[in-house]
Amino acid sequence: MTAATDITYPALLTSGELGHYIDGTWQAPSKGGRIDTHNPATGKVLTTLGRGTDEDVDAAVASARQAFEGPWSRFTHVERQAVLNRMHDLVDEHWDELALLESLDMGVPVSRTEGMKAGILKTILFFATQTANCTGQTIPNSIPGNTTTLLLKAPVGVVGGIIPWNGPLTSQWWILGGVLATGCTCVMKPAEDASLTVLRTAELLIEAGLPRGVVNVVTGLGPEAGAALAGHPDVDRIAFTGSTETGREIIRASASNMKRLQLELGGKSPDIVFADADLDKAVPGASMGVFGNTGQVCFAGTRVFVERSIQDEFVERMVAFGRSLRVGDPLDPDVQLGPLVSQKQLDRVMNYVDIGTREGAELVHGGKRLSGEIAGGYFVEPTIFNNVSNDMTIAREEIFGPVISVIPFDTADEALSLANDTSYGLGGAVWSRDVSTVTKMMHGIKSGAVWVNCYGVIDPAVGFGGYKQSGYGWKGGTTHVEGFLYQKSVYLNAD
Ligand code: ADP
Repeated sequence: MTAATDITYPALLTSGELGHYIDGTWQAPSKGGRIDTHNPATGKVLTTLGRGTDEDVDAAVASARQAFEGPWSRFTHVERQAVLNRMHDLVDEHWDELALLESLDMGVPVSRTEGMKAGILKTILFFATQTANCTGQTIPNSIPGNTTTLLLKAPVGVVGGIIPWNGPLTSQWWILGGVLATGCTCVMKPAEDASLTVLRTAELLIEAGLPRGVVNVVTGLGPEAGAALAGHPDVDRIAFTGSTETGREIIRASASNMKRLQLELGGKSPDIVFADADLDKAVPGASMGVFGNTGQVCFAGTRVFVERSIQDEFVERMVAFGRSLRVGDPLDPDVQLGPLVSQKQLDRVMNYVDIGTREGAELVHGGKRLSGEIAGGYFVEPTIFNNVSNDMTIAREEIFGPVISVIPFDTADEALSLANDTSYGLGGAVWSRDVSTVTKMMHGIKSGAVWVNCYGVIDPAVGFGGYKQSGYGWKGGTTHVEGFLYQKSVYLNAD
């Protein structure tokens, strides 16, 4: 195990108390309020953050508004593209530091960070290609006379970006990419449990040539800094990723000035394994579709529907896979599963394990907090329940931990009906070698993404969204960029 003393801590952690990052500089929290942020692998305080208030949010929004109307508004699309390209290089150059910060802050294992790096770099490059797509078009019309009709596009203005703790280094880019591609500005409010990489990214953006005030960061608690941002009268759009409950609060808070919204919320995604599936792929695929990031993924395939004829073999192999996973210090390169992010999250997951057992699901692997030398951290074993029924609490509510519910089925129609019997619709998968089975599932699963013989693959050019209570507004592709733009029709009468 890597000892904490072996690490060279990034400057962000050794430079003293952190404040908000507003108008390109560090600013002390207005009322001096602070919150601790913990290393989830040890349970020890890592550093303290500003506890943002209405006043801090006001200052950040004012800075974003000024920047929106200032020199940034005159950046051409090629200049915005150049900033994104420089940022791509800076993220690449500073990767070890960013990855270490993310690992210390939210527990992602370093063994996963190379994959994260590739994903982030291609996301930044994708948005760099989109800067020229913010232009309008001339549309042929049927108006008598000599009228030219144009569609113009313009950035919506100040964006509030509210993101969760389960991967801020990655998830911030879905907002920053849209902001920088279109010429908007933003105030980011990262989660109180994991804010460090968002703060560091804001610093790097200045180094990349972004004018001050285009990207601001206010740290703090959801009901305080988050609510102040969501209700702020001078914010034009909110891009939010988080729980469905908080999503409802955001909708309410946005009503006063009709903010544009993009919401990516909770999930309880189905992962359907048919008897003809290649189990060498389906077992690790379905397992890591939940255990990856220690289950802290909104589109985790937590309900694994398995055709009854292969249930015993599948579960046996899944348990063996679960047993083979190394859980522990995220800085150990051999570790595959890190801790949960916080004591609160650990309590929540353990509570669901209790509920599952009480409601009669069969616990076939895991279910315990890890003890020994890592007992101070928030580690839990990868956990598998067998013979779950779709109406049990663990199959209905989002757990956000490494807990799989295996649910048997007999026919494809039954699998589809159970898969869609949920209030969510974020992800879903099918494992089968039969083209008609795959086609039926691909069209039938009611969710914003369906993976066939794979799980959780996301490309920035393709994107991601939700059905039902998993939210609305598309992340990725050209539709994503459109969400950061107003459209204006112009009727130009030349007679
Ligand atoms: P989780 O339960 O996974 O922490 P949340 O939806 O509570 O998910 O949090 C996601 C983000 O939303 C975090 O940045 C959090 O601080 C913020 N948040 C929580 N409550 C509110 C709120 N009432 N208004 C705005 N933001 C909030």
